[in-house]
Order: sequence, then C-alpha cells, then structure tokens
Amino acid sequence: MIGCDCATCRSRDAHDRRLRPSIFIQTADTNLLVDADPDLRAQALAHDIRRLDAILFTHGHADHILGMDDLRRFNAMQKGPLACFGDAHTLDDIRHTFGYVFDPATPKGGGLPRLELFRIMGAFCAGRTEVTPVPLWHGKRAILGYRVGAFAYLTDCSRIPDESWPLLGGLEVLVLDALRERPHPTHFSLDEASDAASRVGARQTYFTHMCHDPLAYDGLVIHVQ
Ligand SMILES: [Zn+2]
Ligand SMILES: [Zn+2]
Ligand SMILES: [Zn+2]
Repeated sequence: MIGCDCATCRSRDAHDRRLRPSIFIQTADTNLLVDADPDLRAQALAHDIRRLDAILFTHGHADHILGMDDLRRFNAMQKGPLACFGDAHTLDDIRHTFGYVFDPATPKGGGLPRLELFRIMGAFCAGRTEVTPVPLWHGKRAILGYRVGAFAYLTDCSRIPDESWPLLGGLEVLVLDALRERPHPTHFSLDEASDAASRVGARQTYFTHMCHDPLAYDGLVIHVQ
C-alpha cells in the first residue's frame, strides 16, 4: 500500500509483494486470462505470456480492468482482435471506462486495443475450453467467478448465492477471496472464506485478494507491550 510502514509493506519477502488480482489459465489447447488488471504488463513480462485466446472478466472494478491498454501487444502478436467475455453489467462498465476504444469517431490505429465483447448467458466455450460462470455477490453487486474443469476462481466475493453451490462440486482446486481478518462489506473475511472453503470442499483451497493486514505464519514473532 502506498505510504504504509506496516510490517507487510516493509517486508522483503516476495510473498508480501502482491500485484493486482488476475490469473492466467492454461489448458491443453487454450490460454485464458481472467481480468486485465493494472499490473497486466508486469505480470505478462514476468511469466512470459505470449498468447491469449480469451479474456474472462469477473467485474468492472478498476483493479480488474485498468490493464486493458496492454492488450494491444497481444493484438499485434496475434494479428487479430481479442475475445472478451463478461456479464452485461461488466461489459457496460468496460464500454464506459474505455469509451474512446468503442467510439466509432476515434481514429483507428495501433493506439486502440481491439476487443470483441461477448455477453455471458451461461456456460460457454472459450477457444476449445468449456467455461462455467459462477454467480457471486460482491457486496450489493452481482459478479462472476469462473470454473474451468476441476478448478474455480472466485475473487471479490462476500457471498456465494444458493444457485452457485451446485456449480462448485468435485473441485480439485479453489481460489477464493479472503481479504483480511476483520469483516468487510464486499469481500469475504478470513473466517467467512474458511467457512465457504469447507462447504465447497475442494481438495485444495488458496486464498487470494489479501490486503496488507497480517496473517499468522510459522515463526511469526509478535511484540506486545
Ligand atoms: Zn501496509
Ligand atoms: Zn471488486
Ligand atoms: Zn478486486
């Protein structure tokens, strides 16, 4: 966090250096990016990502879409537009935030990412990979998580609605929002995330979207006056 002197922000441990939330999913024949966050360029360079078959958007908050401009490089490498999937609200947010990209009056050229927006109405194929959207509540806003095979990514959620639990059976790996220990209006706290993780019952659950509030770990030394 900018301007913060807490132990997490001053830490030299690489695990305490967190960029904005996004994941890259690679199946046998398809490369999927979930969200285009403001750190997209640094993340794509660090992990040598060279091809994207589709981008799945969870919702339109700034920390999930403000890397859109970096997608231009993939347009150039792949010589074509990029397929972007999201719910109606998210696609509206993208059209609004990046109005110049979708304004026919903007001169065409290398300065614009070329995006084809597809509204999600249910399970769909991205490339040759089947993707199941998982409706979530992010505070009062309905957003989407995604399931691909036995893997699910549920970021930015404060509640999993009844209709989504059946979509989460038999998971090998679940990645789940767990912002911090204290409750938060739009994200799971650690307790809420632990309860949801137990109920989903994936073989392995990883927490994500953590803030800089400290979590306990082996070897932690705490000084109390
Ligand atoms: Zn801090
Ligand atoms: Zn959000
Ligand atoms: Zn977020």
